[in-house]
Amino acid sequence: MRLSALYMPTLKEAPADAEVISHKLLVRAGMIRKLTSGIYTYLPLGRRSLDKIAQIVREEMNAAGGQEIFMPMVQPGDLWKETGRWDVYGPELLRVKDRHGRDYCLGPTHEEVVTDLVRGEVRSYRQLPLNLYQIQTKFRDEIRPRFGLMRGREFVMKDAYSFDKDAHGADASYAAMYDAYTRAFKRLGLRFRAVQADSGAIGGSYSHEFMVLATTGEDTIVTCTQCEYAANLEKAEVCYANEPLDRGECPELVEVETPGMHTVAEVAKFLELPESKILKTLLYEADGKPVAVLLRGDRELNEIKLKNLAGVTNLELAGPEQVKKWTGAAVGFAGPVGLEVERIYADEEIMRDTDWAAGANKDDMHVLHVDIPRDVKLTASADLRTVTMDDPCPACGGGIEMPRGIEVGHVFKLGTKYSEAMNATFLDEAGKEQLMIMGCYGIGVSRILAAAIEQNNDEFGIVFPPSIAPYEVALLTLGAKDDAVVAKSEELYELLTDKGVDVLLDDRGERPGVKFKDADLVGFPIQVVVGGKALARGVVEAKDRRTGEKAELPVDAFEEAFD
Ligand code: ATP
Ligand code: MG
Ligand code: MG
Ligand code: MG
Repeated sequence: MRLSALYMPTLKEAPADAEVISHKLLVRAGMIRKLTSGIYTYLPLGRRSLDKIAQIVREEMNAAGGQEIFMPMVQPGDLWKETGRWDVYGPELLRVKDRHGRDYCLGPTHEEVVTDLVRGEVRSYRQLPLNLYQIQTKFRDEIRPRFGLMRGREFVMKDAYSFDKDAHGADASYAAMYDAYTRAFKRLGLRFRAVQADSGAIGGSYSHEFMVLATTGEDTIVTCTQCEYAANLEKAEVCYANEPLDRGECPELVEVETPGMHTVAEVAKFLELPESKILKTLLYEADGKPVAVLLRGDRELNEIKLKNLAGVTNLELAGPEQVKKWTGAAVGFAGPVGLEVERIYADEEIMRDTDWAAGANKDDMHVLHVDIPRDVKLTASADLRTVTMDDPCPACGGGIEMPRGIEVGHVFKLGTKYSEAMNATFLDEAGKEQLMIMGCYGIGVSRILAAAIEQNNDEFGIVFPPSIAPYEVALLTLGAKDDAVVAKSEELYELLTDKGVDVLLDDRGERPGVKFKDADLVGFPIQVVVGGKALARGVVEAKDRRTGEKAELPVDAFEEAFD
C-alpha cells in the first residue's frame, strides 16, 4: 500500500473525551473515528489490525476443533423469552419492534440463537461434541461506554459454544478452549493472566477470565505472591464473604431498581455481582405472583414477625421451620413496601422495620411470598466488601497483590442451563434422551486492539506487537524529488511485497520529520528509511520501533534481511 493513497488521517491532538492512552492513540493514528457514544468506525489501518487479531483467534479456534459459523445479529425476542433472559437482561439489551409489533433485540451474546440452531438438528450422541463459533459484531447498551474500543456499545467478539454429551466431554471442551486462548493471547503479544471468575448467575460451575495486565484496566485481580492463586475481585470476594460481615466495614451500598426480576441469581447478574453479595433484594412477579426475597447476615435470629401495613395482602412466610433454619443470618432495611417486620434475635434484641425483611443462611435462600401493590417502587441492594492488600491469600494464607486488568477473554461452563430451557436434547448410547452440556467462550476482538496499545506505547505513539500491526514494515522515502531515492524505494517496495511482507510505502511529498512522526505514532514495528546520502553509500537505515535501535542495511543484502 502507498501512503499517498491511504486514508490515514493522523492528528496532533487527541479528542477531548479520550481518557486512556489507547483511545487517544487509536484516534490520533487515524485508526478509528467515533460515530456516536460507544460506536466507532474502523479506518483502513484499524481495520487491518482488527482483521489480524481476528485471524489469529480464528486459527487457534480452528486448531482446537471449532467450526466457524456466522449468526444473525438481530434476534427474535421469543427465543429470549424461552430462556427467561428477556426479563433478566436489563437495559443492556437493545430491544426493537418490527413493523408487525414483534419483539427483537440486537445480539449481546448468542446462547439462545446457537442453542436454537442445534436443537432438533443434533439428535444423536454421535454428532457430539460440537464447537461452533463466530466472529461478529455485538451490541450491548452499556451504561457507561468509555475508553474508546475498550468498552464500546458496538464491538467485535469471537463467541464459541460447545455442546457435549457428558460432563467428561464438557471438561475436555473447556480445557481445549482454555488452552486455545492461552496460545492466541501469546501470539497476540499480550502480557496476560488467566484468573478464576465467579460463575454466578449464568448457571455454570466453572469460569476463567483472561486479563491483560494494565494499570488502566477496569477490573481488579487478586493474585498471591506465593502460590498460583489468581482470581478476579468478585470471585475473591466470595471467598472473603465466608467470613462474618461487619456492617460497619461496608463501604458501598448499591441501590438499583430491578424491574421484573424474581430471583437472587437474576439480580446478581443484573448487578454483575456474585450471588453471595446480594444482601437484600425486594422483588416482584414470580410465577405471576409478586414476591419479595431474602438475604444474608450474621446474627442468630429466633423469629421473624410480619405485620401487614397498607395494601399488602396474602402474606405467606416459608414456614416456622424455615425461620428456625435462618440462624446465623439477619438483615433488614427501609423502603415503603408496606410491611412491618420484627426480627427477634437470639440475644433478645428486637429490631423493627417498616418494610419487610427476612433472613437466610448463605446456602439456603428462601423466598417470601408477599402480594405487593404494583405502584410500589421496589429496590434491590447489594453489599460490597472490599478486599484489601492486608487480606491473606484465600488459598495459602500468603500475601496478595491486586493488579488491574482488562478482561479480554472469558471461558465459561454453562452446564444445562440453556439446553434445559430450550429443550436441546440428544439420544445417548442407550437410546435415552439427555440434555446437552454446554460451554461458552468469548474473546473481545476489538477490545484486544485497545488492550494491546495500553500495554505497548511510548511518548511517540503505539508500539505494535508485530503480529497485529497494520503493516509490519513502513518504508519511508526521504526526498520525493530525488529520482534515485524514489527508484530505490519503489524497487524495495516491490521486493518486499513480492516476499509477502506487509509493507506500507510512505511516498508522500512530506518532510522527513512528518514521515518519522507518523510512522512512530502508528507504531509500525520496522521502519526502513531510504535517504539520498545513505543510498549513495549503498545502504538504507532500518529502525526497530520498540527498542529504537537503528542499523544500516547494505542495499545488496536487503532481501536476505527479510527472509
Ligand atoms: P465486562 O466485564 O468488561 O463488561 P463481560 O464479562 O460483560 O465484560 P462477556 O460477556 O464475558 O463480557 O463477553 C466476552 C468478551 O467480550 C469479554 O471478555 C470482553 O473481552 C468483550 N467485551 C464485553 N463487553 C465489551 C464491550 N462493551 N466492549 C468491548 N468488548 C467487550
Ligand atoms: Mg459486561
Ligand atoms: Mg466481566
Ligand atoms: Mg465476562
